[in-house]
Amino acid sequence: VSSTLWAIGIDIGGTKTAVGLVDREGMIKHHIEFPTRPQDGFAAGVDRLVMAVEDILRQTAVSRELLSGIGIGCPGPLRPNTGTLHNPYTLPGWEGCNLIKPLATQFGLPVRLENDADTAVLGEAFAGAARQARHVVMLTFGTGVGSGILVDGRIYRGVDGEHPEAGHLPIDPNGPECYCGGRGCLEILASGTAIAAAGRGHGYPDGQSVFAAADRGNPQACLIVDGAVQATAKACWMLVHTFLPEYIVLGGGLMDHQFDRFAAPARQALRLATQIPRDRVRICAAQLGNRAGLVGAAALVFER
Ligand SMILES: [Zn+2]
Repeated sequence: VSSTLWAIGIDIGGTKTAVGLVDREGMIKHHIEFPTRPQDGFAAGVDRLVMAVEDILRQTAVSRELLSGIGIGCPGPLRPNTGTLHNPYTLPGWEGCNLIKPLATQFGLPVRLENDADTAVLGEAFAGAARQARHVVMLTFGTGVGSGILVDGRIYRGVDGEHPEAGHLPIDPNGPECYCGGRGCLEILASGTAIAAAGRGHGYPDGQSVFAAADRGNPQACLIVDGAVQATAKACWMLVHTFLPEYIVLGGGLMDHQFDRFAAPARQALRLATQIPRDRVRICAAQLGNRAGLVGAAALVFER
């Protein structure tokens, strides 16, 4: 039985990074944020992380001996097994670098690295919308559509420990081309970026104004919004048939204001799933917001 009370969670994004001290209930005692600035190079990035962890331990007067370890969520692709990053888009210049080794050496603690969509679902299951659930699928709608899947309480993994990408489920074979090479992927129909891009074609400056115009009954805007909503409903239907989770958690910036609009048709779609106990599947909004990554990253080291 471990006597450690705390874990360090690190949530690395393309623009900013958050580092926090988290307890076993998923409460963040103290956290700091700073720009990631990947262009400064990987060594500078590691230095900033080390300083942030040391700052937090000093400010909270928590000693290293009381830490379970350090958990990191980072935009993938990445290799959780080895700790190497393979994301040239969000973290240019960090490709092929190992994030686990330098932190493990510096602090002498267990360090774990996962895709940020996986730390998000872990956070929601640890202390958020899907608390205590064992089977959870989370879709995070933002720049893209990220997916994290928990099966029997553990992150679902594929080849090399990497995770599947539900954002590229082929929803509409006649839909727009996706950067992945496919057509009509969930991400190209329902991400914040996709909605904003479709709106710009009709003179809307951003995604928010597309939703506002849809609320006023503008047919073009309604078409865009309805496309995103129906794509999400279909994705939920596919995911329920594949994983039969207790919860499908919808998160990300888009869902902060639009959850109800997306949830109702998704729940409707589940009624068609007649071969499985669909009444036990709940579609709910993420609760932790942008804290899910930090809390989930900490949960990585409490997990063991
Ligand atoms: Zn795609």
